[in-house]
Amino acid sequence: MNDRTRSRKASVRDVRRTNRALVIRHLLFAHETSRSSAGEATALSAATVTNLISDLIDEGAVVEQGFLESPGGRPRTVLGLNPKAAIFFGADVGETQITLEAFDLTLSRLGRRIHRFSGRRIDPQKVIDFLADGVASLIQEIAAKQSTGLANEPATEPAPRVLGLGLGVPGIVEHPTASVGLRGDEPLVHAQVVGWKAVTFTSLAERLGFPLFVDNGAKTTTQAEAWFGSAQGVEHGIVVLIGDGVGAGIITNGRLYRGSSSSAGEWGHTKISLDGIRCRCGSRGCVETFVGASAVLERWRGRDDTWVGRETAGIDALFAAFDAHEPDAAAAMSDLVDHLGLALANLVNLYNPQKIVVGGWFGDQIAEKFLEELHASVLRFSLEQPGNEVVLERSRLGHDAAALGAATLPLDHFIETGWPQ
Ligand SMILES: [Zn+2]
Repeated sequence: MNDRTRSRKASVRDVRRTNRALVIRHLLFAHETSRSSAGEATALSAATVTNLISDLIDEGAVVEQGFLESPGGRPRTVLGLNPKAAIFFGADVGETQITLEAFDLTLSRLGRRIHRFSGRRIDPQKVIDFLADGVASLIQEIAAKQSTGLANEPATEPAPRVLGLGLGVPGIVEHPTASVGLRGDEPLVHAQVVGWKAVTFTSLAERLGFPLFVDNGAKTTTQAEAWFGSAQGVEHGIVVLIGDGVGAGIITNGRLYRGSSSSAGEWGHTKISLDGIRCRCGSRGCVETFVGASAVLERWRGRDDTWVGRETAGIDALFAAFDAHEPDAAAAMSDLVDHLGLALANLVNLYNPQKIVVGGWFGDQIAEKFLEELHASVLRFSLEQPGNEVVLERSRLGHDAAALGAATLPLDHFIETGWPQ
């Protein structure tokens, strides 16, 4: 085979792969479709769609689910992704817990495992052990549910294929798109605030025996917002996540912006004061030290609290005091809205987003109560034109979208490249 033939074959394969990805994405977001609707949505020819769908049915990824009457024509076959074809996992290392969830191909949640930890740090080995054990027990649970349920009868369904595990972690992830242990550069996790230096997850990939993908948790949550949530269809948007720590994911031209070594979005450690209090990152005056949950609580209480983990109880008390018109609580909230508005206005001036989605467990509460005040605060500090243009929105997915976001990593890999080898 000469070079030209080889490259023509390669490009035919690429086109086919791209078209296949278009059809699967359509099926994923439409839930139910028909061959003709898939053709309209993807702008592919009827013949191409028919071929691709028939391959996907042969592979078991797509099932025919009955008929739909169509006015004046033949009834159309309803198509959907096959929930029994494959499972995949999403996990997120949050501030006080690791969440592991299993999904089927229609994105129904099949099961969940949670590991809570106290203190700021968690040993990466503990993360690996929890995930390896959790995945094994979830697979067992799912297989048991999918079998007939009759004691003496063998399972009629073959065990579902596993597409992989996506893991969202704090900090900066170098080489996030590489699949751990399979090819190329390994993802390296640098999470200064939790004490992780160049942590790898190779041993987890070996224990799992299927593809593992690692990315920053704010980025995976942003991907979930872009696929299913408030940032759906947004070309230029920012998802800010506020908990005790603060992060952001930036979407430009419809894609996640990463920067040269994937650290873009570390908005929580941009500075809004020259002589502010010291941050977990070692510097001073970071956004996180003004709008992170425990920072806000410390201001309200007028003292330096020992960090005791996710302070929901403390935050609830602060909101209650605000509702009871306690002057200190009103001052703390007004201070929060001012500083958060200022920090968001910097993003508005830098990126000119159409939309900013406010999420994270604390961010969700702020957005629920103060979205209008926050928008006014952004307008006070931003340039007029981009400030007027930006829409501020509370996250539609809520604050437990982190594991779902991480699960989009193996799903995306399946859509783009096919079944894992
Ligand atoms: Zn910092």
